[in-house]
Amino acid sequence: MRRRVAALALCICSIGRLASAQPAQDLDSRVVTLVGQVSEQRLIVLLKKLETFGTRNTLSSIDSPTSGIGAARQWIFDEMKGYSPKLQVSFDTYRIAAQGRITRDVEARNIMAILPGRSPRRIYISGHYDTIAIDGGQSGSNAGNRGRDGIVVSQPADPNAPNDSPAAGVNDDGSGTALTIELARVFSQSGLDFDATLVFMCHVAEEQGLMGAKLHAQKARDQGLRIDAVLNNDIVGNARGGNGIIDGASIRVYSEGPEDSPSRELARFVQRWGMRYVPSHTVRPLSRPDRFSRGGDHSAYNQYGFAAVGFRESREDYSRQHDPRDTFDGVSPTYLAQNARVNAAAAAALALAPPAPGVLNERGQANINRAPSGYDAHLMWKASPGASAYRIFWREAWGPDWQHDMLVGNVTEATLPNTLIDDLVFGVAAVDAAGHESLVSPYISPARDTDDVKTAK
Ligand SMILES: [Zn+2]
Repeated sequence: MRRRVAALALCICSIGRLASAQPAQDLDSRVVTLVGQVSEQRLIVLLKKLETFGTRNTLSSIDSPTSGIGAARQWIFDEMKGYSPKLQVSFDTYRIAAQGRITRDVEARNIMAILPGRSPRRIYISGHYDTIAIDGGQSGSNAGNRGRDGIVVSQPADPNAPNDSPAAGVNDDGSGTALTIELARVFSQSGLDFDATLVFMCHVAEEQGLMGAKLHAQKARDQGLRIDAVLNNDIVGNARGGNGIIDGASIRVYSEGPEDSPSRELARFVQRWGMRYVPSHTVRPLSRPDRFSRGGDHSAYNQYGFAAVGFRESREDYSRQHDPRDTFDGVSPTYLAQNARVNAAAAAALALAPPAPGVLNERGQANINRAPSGYDAHLMWKASPGASAYRIFWREAWGPDWQHDMLVGNVTEATLPNTLIDDLVFGVAAVDAAGHESLVSPYISPARDTDDVKTAK
């Protein structure tokens, strides 16, 4: 006991000495410069080009050089390939068997651009480049009455025929696709050395059940790839709701629970750093996986155990979604550019930071206790490579956002006297010498197994 107290006294000493070495400012001017490179004009060019393919339906023609999904995927590939020799661009190809909304066996290609970092751990920025149009569009689906507004979308009677009915998909999800392509350009031309590996991913077959994302996430799990974060963007380009209400100054970020799940920590990170680098735009985290009865590719990554969040415009116009009217005149490039800047800020801040510290002990329990007095908060964590300090976070155990934080130098434990660990949630992030901060590792222990009580006869 005596030795333990001495160790803690030493720990507090070192906190006091190293705290004065904390970074002088929160923002990295290099990230400010990178965010400033996001170009609204470039986004306009990309959106208009994506519109020219007429449809990018996963089941559309692949033999035309100018229209359909074959032309679209080749153009996206070539476009990203041209940005920088550092970008490793490839098709991530699968053959999907006929099932559900896939009417025939089809070759499906995600388009993936990798910007290698010092570490293989990955951060994804993504959208889906495939499109769809259905009778009545999303308005009809919402009303439970397809065809309600009179637009009839012709579908081929032959399941083996290509589906080339018009589905320009400029917002769904040309917006997320253009954002992803533009950030591939900005990051690969930034000249920055990132710790994490960045992956710019344009998914396919989202509209048939997140199939492109599921296939990739499944492969990543099977290969043991470490994916720390997926920032998925789907319908992020329109600021005018179909009910006339306009909001071009905020973006929704959906994440699956529970409240300290890796995806929730990612959403908190996006809000914390997105709004610091882009203070003109409000990030609105929402404590649910997605909108009611709607889905997106981030959920595919969640299903395979990866942290992933879904960016969604704040006010949607359902009359243009899954509809031939999803055209360029229905998006706001100014708004899309703001959403791209938030993505850029969060991804750059995270990719420059060290990995998050481990906070579980050998038994898989949160490494926190009430020592030394029995009424203190004593936090322990594992050192993170590249970290020169750590930041402790805490909040009342009834509320979604971190309320307090404190930088504690290059140590692996800290004590907050007379602080009840029963009433607060704690977390810790790794911080490097330039102030880049990791995701927060929360002190949450897994739920205990239930043992049935044996009853006597
Ligand atoms: Zn979509």
